[in-house]
Amino acid sequence: MKVDWVIVGSGFTGATLAEQLASQLNQNVLVIEKRDHIGGNSYDCYDEHGILIHKYGSHTFHTNSSMVWNYLSQFTQWRPYFHEVRVVVDGKKVPVPFNLNSLYALFPQKYAEKLEELLIQHFGFNVKVPILKLRESASGELAFLADYIYQNVFYKYTMKHWQLDPEQLDRSVTARVPVYISRDNRYFQDKYQGLPKHGYTPLFQRMLKHPNIKLLLNTDYRDVIDQIQFKRMIYTGPIDAYFNYMHGTLPYRTLRFEFDTLDQEFYQEVGTVNYGLEYDYTRVLEQKHLTGQKSPKTTISYVYPEEYIAGKSDPYYPIPREENKELYRLYQAEAEKIKDKVLFAGRLADYKYYNMDQAVARALTLFKEIVQEETKPE
Ligand code: FAD
Ligand code: UDP
Repeated sequence: MKVDWVIVGSGFTGATLAEQLASQLNQNVLVIEKRDHIGGNSYDCYDEHGILIHKYGSHTFHTNSSMVWNYLSQFTQWRPYFHEVRVVVDGKKVPVPFNLNSLYALFPQKYAEKLEELLIQHFGFNVKVPILKLRESASGELAFLADYIYQNVFYKYTMKHWQLDPEQLDRSVTARVPVYISRDNRYFQDKYQGLPKHGYTPLFQRMLKHPNIKLLLNTDYRDVIDQIQFKRMIYTGPIDAYFNYMHGTLPYRTLRFEFDTLDQEFYQEVGTVNYGLEYDYTRVLEQKHLTGQKSPKTTISYVYPEEYIAGKSDPYYPIPREENKELYRLYQAEAEKIKDKVLFAGRLADYKYYNMDQAVARALTLFKEIVQEETKPE
């Protein structure tokens, strides 16, 4: 077989690059995907009870980038959806990001009023404060509050999810879910938020439905690559696997999802509920809240963090911390040496904790670089 480009992986990174190369540069593209479906971790499907589920954990689309939103809007309409999450603290389900509503749900009215006043005096209203910053800068009663939130919302969950405490990770990890001095219960405040109206998989099908794109499912690229003639490859799998782990394995966290279908319309009040150390799982997910599907049944999933074994487990979360970045940089240097033949991009190939919109933005930026290279005079 002869093609212009081979793309390994059909998640948002691979699908965006395949679509752009095919439609904008009229290139022949072969997408090779080792799973039996397209979409990477954003894949969704109907389960045996007819409920639309997200096989690899709930995926909520949110972005501030009009470029990304407009790009994807060519392939889908959107169902407006604002994600809400609760975390169980002292047996109560309260909003997370921890906000003023959480404060009032957990403390007696008078004390909550005092803490609210102190928070606003110190930081202002409608301000987001990462928990590690709150801990450093708070004193007196606010230091008590910071410690309470740290212990109950962050420490337990983070230990279970990452097997590291928040201080052992890049500060950006817990800063994704800052304490929010407001009454806004939404998980994200991005300008654009929603779910693909008919699901993620139809969105991917439309992205890849181009006469210049061929798709090979159930195939590890290593098993077939010798039989394919191609100009260049874009690889979106784990970068250490590409180089046969020559510098050692990059650490990841993986998850196990346990699905359960119940004969009731809804199980919980919002799409995600987070749990601390007292439970073996970190989250209970209920995708009907996200998809808006009407059914007398519902499917929920329990999320259990698990040890990752390179080559065996699904690499779900790169672990953002300095020593891992150093190891990644060794692989990045290897990638640099072969960039004329292979380009690396995506959450696994860049070893970066990208959200979906960041994966698409990264792919669109890489595509621009490819255009510049391909159209540059000899
Ligand atoms: P992936 O989606 O991982 O795709 C990589 C593909 O490459 C996979 O399909 C894999 O099978 C394939 N592949 C790997 N190696 C090979 C090989 N050797 N041969 C052939 N194929 C190969 N983002 C959000 O914005 N909102 C959310 O709510 C959200 N929730 C998430 C929840 C979980 C549990 C996880 C793990 C991630 C979540 N994300 C979320 C992040 C989102 O999944 C990623 O940003 C996105 O999937 C990145 O796309 P990608 O194409 O880079 O990688
Ligand atoms: N986090 C936490 N408790 C929560 C929510 C988040 O400790 O109730 C921390 C935890 O370390 C988590 C990180 O914040 O991994 C980022 O959370 P996010 O919801 O962004 O994680 P993701 O959706 O990517 O799994």
